[in-house]
Amino acid sequence: MLGRMPGAVVGLVMIAASLLVGGGAASAAAPPHVRAALTAAVADGCYTWPRTLSEGASGEDVRQLQIRVSGYPGSGSVLAVDGAFGPATKAAVTRFQQAYGLAADGVAGSATYAKLYALQDDDCTPVHFSYAELNNCNGDWSGGAVSAAQAKANALLTMWKLEALRHALGDQSIRVTSGFRSKACNDAVGGAPSSRHLYGDAADLGSGPHSLCTLAKQARAHGFNGILGPGYPGHDDHTHVDHRSSRYWSAPTCGVS
Ligand SMILES: [Zn+2]
Repeated sequence: MLGRMPGAVVGLVMIAASLLVGGGAASAAAPPHVRAALTAAVADGCYTWPRTLSEGASGEDVRQLQIRVSGYPGSGSVLAVDGAFGPATKAAVTRFQQAYGLAADGVAGSATYAKLYALQDDDCTPVHFSYAELNNCNGDWSGGAVSAAQAKANALLTMWKLEALRHALGDQSIRVTSGFRSKACNDAVGGAPSSRHLYGDAADLGSGPHSLCTLAKQARAHGFNGILGPGYPGHDDHTHVDHRSSRYWSAPTCGVS
């Protein structure tokens, strides 16, 4: 989220913005305190993109963008989070822009970043989900099938996909009943030995504003290779989504396969 700015700083930003009309030379010509105010105005508590990104770009800033638009890969697709801005990333950015009523050109600039800043908390999770919600097993993400850091990163990607799913279903709440599990936690609940919950990328969704079938059907459009729901053994009381390496969808009661 963006920090709040005092009125005087907002005024300086407006001056700086007017200086910026005409290009980078004007920005460089701005007094240092004005440039500092401009920088402060766009600084986000989690991550601030340093440049406009379009097809052909590469780098860590592209990877950060891909994480946040990973829920917009198109039906049945999964967006690679590889730091290379190719056609699939452009299409995902375009879908994200369309979903939020922005000019949809597939180029990530100030309007797109402003929406992303509004959608993320200072710990980089999307505003409607949290690390705590994705881990009711332990506090440090240890003991799974991957490193704690990897499990947490996997859960972050899942949360951004869930944020897209939530928005597509009218911004009504989605309840995560189980996320990351250590081997001990997985054994305790009778999870499969190869469960994606051990990797941190799985989320079990309970019914609420949306039926389990609505969740299973809509999840197909938001980057989940794994979807298990009603009609699949053991899944009549939740819909499970994950990032397994190849697609496996099974919710026979819902017509999802
Ligand atoms: Zn599950």
